[in-house]
Parts: sequence; C-alpha cells; structure tokens
Amino acid sequence: MITTAFIGLGNMGAPMAQNLLIAGEKLNVFDLVPAAVGKLAAAGATACDSLRAAVTGVDAIITMLPATEHSRQAYLGDDGILAYAKRDALLIDCSTINAGAAKEIAAAAREKGFTMLDAPVSGGTAGAERGTLTFIVGGDADTLARARPLLEKMGKNIFHAGGNGAGQMAKICNNMLLAILMIGTSEALALGAANGLDPAVLSEIIAKSSGRNWVTEVYNPWPGVMANVPAARDYTGGFGTDLMLKDLGLATEAAVGAATPLGTQARDIYAAWSAAGNGRRDFSSVLEFIRKG
Ligand code: NAD
Repeated sequence: MITTAFIGLGNMGAPMAQNLLIAGEKLNVFDLVPAAVGKLAAAGATACDSLRAAVTGVDAIITMLPATEHSRQAYLGDDGILAYAKRDALLIDCSTINAGAAKEIAAAAREKGFTMLDAPVSGGTAGAERGTLTFIVGGDADTLARARPLLEKMGKNIFHAGGNGAGQMAKICNNMLLAILMIGTSEALALGAANGLDPAVLSEIIAKSSGRNWVTEVYNPWPGVMANVPAARDYTGGFGTDLMLKDLGLATEAAVGAATPLGTQARDIYAAWSAAGNGRRDFSSVLEFIRKG
C-alpha cells in the first residue's frame, strides 16, 4: 500500500483528501492552518506539522495550493518537496498556476529524478465534495497512468492535455471563456429585465436557443432563477471573484502572440468588482456590477 502526502487543505484540498481517505488511501496531511490538518486527522489521516515531515518517505505527493508563488515555494524552496521527497515519488500539482511556472517546476523536478504532472481541476467545491472533478493533466502519458488510481478517487473525467504546463494552459483557456460567458449572460439578462422581460423566462429561452451556455443552464447568476447555485444564497460558496481574477491574470500573462480582447476586458471588470469589496463573493455576483452599469 502506498502512502500519499496531501498538502493544502482548503476549500478544494480538504474534500479531495477526504475522498482519498474514504477510498482507503493512506495519507499524510499538512496545511499552514492547524485546524485544517486536525479535521483530516479526525477522518483518519496522519497529521504532520511541517511540509518536510509530510513529504519525507512518501510514494506520491499531491498539492492543492492557492497560486503560483505557493507552488513554487512548496516545490523549489529550501525546505521544499524537491529537497526532501524520495526521488521516485510521484508529484501532482492540482493548484491552478502560471503554465510557464508549471513547466519550470516540472523541469527542476525532472533534473532531480522525479516525475511530475500539473493536474488543475474544474468542477468547483461541489465537484471536490462529490468526487466528480475534471482533471486537466499536463505531463507524460506514463506518469499519468501512474497517477490515475489516485485521480480517479477524486474525479470523474481525466483529460491529458499534453506535456508539462499543458494542463494549466487548457484550464486557463476554459476559465477565461467561463468569465466571458458569465459577464455576457449577465448583460443579456440585465438587458431583458430592463425591458420588461422575466429573467427566468428569458433564461429558459436562451437555454434552448443559440445563446445557450453552461452559465444559463447550470449556474444562473440571477437570484431566484435557479436553486442550489451561489445566486440563490447571496453569492456565498462557489468560486470566488478573486480566484477568477487570478485565472484571468494567468490568461493575460499567457496571451503572448494571441489576441484576447474580451479576456482582457473580463479581467478589468473582475478587478473593479473585487476592488469594490466583492473578492470573496462568488464570481456570478458580477451580475450586480453589470446591473449597476
Ligand atoms: P484555499 O485558499 O481555500 O486553500 C488553499 C490552502 O492552502 C489553504 O488552506 C492554505 O492554508 C494552504 N496553504 C497555502 N500555502 C501553504 C503551504 N506552503 N503549505 C501548506 N499549505 C498551504 O483555496 P482553494 O479554493 O482550495 O483553491 C486551491 C486551488 O484550486 C487554487 O489554485 C484555485 O485556483 C484552484 N481551484 C479552486 C476552485 C474553487 O472552486 N475553489 C475550483 C477549481 C480550482
């Protein structure tokens, strides 16, 4: 039986680690927040009080950290994973980070004899809880084959996007499009409502017409149109505005030689919405920004 270290037990990492435990995996866990470690320890994981303690001697390491600098530090720092993990340990970074940085970290890992994947996820906290995440993987096929038994316990769909960094790039392209769709859908609903249409009826029409998209079908931003979405609970839970803003920043950084005028505008809108104090609210709250004009 292999031992896996799970590093980063936040909104996503905690339920992902929980699903591995439920499936019978042996886990070492570490987070900077001791209470997060305590919760997983109560569910059967081995609590560790440092990154070094968690990764020493394990067979696989999964990280689910906030952003690029956290991943860089966790893997490349003096007290980091590459310094202390066993050379044949499988490394899987599920955080959403800069694609170039993912390539750099994987190259540094390869130089030391490790194999590594970038495996960012789609599906949000609900997908993490239900074990239905989509993994978008960058790295070589053999390494992905080795990782599959772990990924399958946390997710439903596993896509191989290409070499190291390709997983991050595909995830960022998807999220840029999602931001544009969220703002576009909000504009269409606000335009209809301002001209006397019922947003629920308009949403139903769009969902069966040529403007249909994931936002109108399953993540409607207009309060009262759908149950069990962030708009139904004052935009709490879900995918925060600041996380979407981070992903749009990653898209802008990657847009060298590609025109992304709508992506850039979406980033500016989300930056303004975050600066107005909405960073922790779900990204569908941008509807309020559109309605205020
Ligand atoms: P989060 O902020 O809730 O959790 C991150 C955790 O990492 C925190 O508990 C923090 O204490 C811990 N951490 C930070 N630095 C650490 C370190 N050096 N060592 C150990 N622990 C450390 O974030 P989240 O919502 O779980 O998101 C994690 C990643 O997943 C992000 O890259 C995000 O963009 C991506 N993501 C999030 C969602 C979502 O819906 N929340 C969906 C898809 C992808």
